Amino acid sequence: MSLLQKVSYRGCEFDLFDLTAINPIGNKFFKLRNNLQLAVKQGHQQILTFGGAWSNHVHALAQIGPQQGFKTIAVIRGEQPVALNPSLQEAQAAGMQLHFVSRATYKQRESLEYLAELEQSFGKFYLLPEGGTNSAGVEGCREIVDILQKTQPEYDEVFVALGSGGTMAGIAKELPKGKSVTGVCVLKGAVGINDSVSALIPDVHNWHIDHEGHCGGYAKCPEDLKTFILDFEAHTGIDLEPVYTGKMIYRLIRLLESSQRLANRRVVAIHTGGLQGRRGYDF
Ligand SMILES: *Cc1c(COP(=O)(O)O)cnc(C)c1O
Repeated sequence: MSLLQKVSYRGCEFDLFDLTAINPIGNKFFKLRNNLQLAVKQGHQQILTFGGAWSNHVHALAQIGPQQGFKTIAVIRGEQPVALNPSLQEAQAAGMQLHFVSRATYKQRESLEYLAELEQSFGKFYLLPEGGTNSAGVEGCREIVDILQKTQPEYDEVFVALGSGGTMAGIAKELPKGKSVTGVCVLKGAVGINDSVSALIPDVHNWHIDHEGHCGGYAKCPEDLKTFILDFEAHTGIDLEPVYTGKMIYRLIRLLESSQRLANRRVVAIHTGGLQGRRGYDF
């Protein structure tokens, strides 16, 4: 796919800015880069992170960590399966050490006591939070806007899929005056997310979180979303997946069709990647 393309679908028009044309791991490339630099600076040899069994973040770290000489470790939510799924198989093949824990244990991922226990087991590591969202991750995502500005500065509103909010926060921070960003939240009932984004970028107000596009909850793919993704792909040749980009584009199309808010706004949607996770679905 090319970095920028015009999309026309069901009478709706927008530009698609495809981060996988920069790096196949999409937005995770921008979230990881400054973190890896920090880890080098701090003299670490290993990086430890957290995620689910299909996590794009875990998969991305497994690919990119070893390129910079790091050993990578991922604490995976849920008991060890009989056979690894393709995403975890690839992570392991890239040298990542997988550590499966119960959901109850996984919930302790921010407790200092549990992190000290992990250090006992694995030795010293650079701690990368779930999803790679910390201030270094947010800073790295500012570059998405720098590249977009050089490619196609003629837009009013950016659309991006939102999980932890780090990517949208970085974009919001870097957007020129007069432009704004909407993050389509892929989690249901994520009431705390607006506050966590505010905490990441306290002085920035050009962003909005849309809570109507989650399609039933994280990683849920109801029939209407599946039908939309297949139809969109067939008409545009652009691949989507159900966890992030499919939900964001589905919501964007519904808004372009119905909402006053987007009338006369030139929209650029960010394709954040994540297509490796499509293999977790049977279509
Ligand atoms: C992780 C991810 C997101 C969400 O990024 P956040 O910074 O957590 O909001 C969006 N799209 C894809 C494809 C992702 O893998």
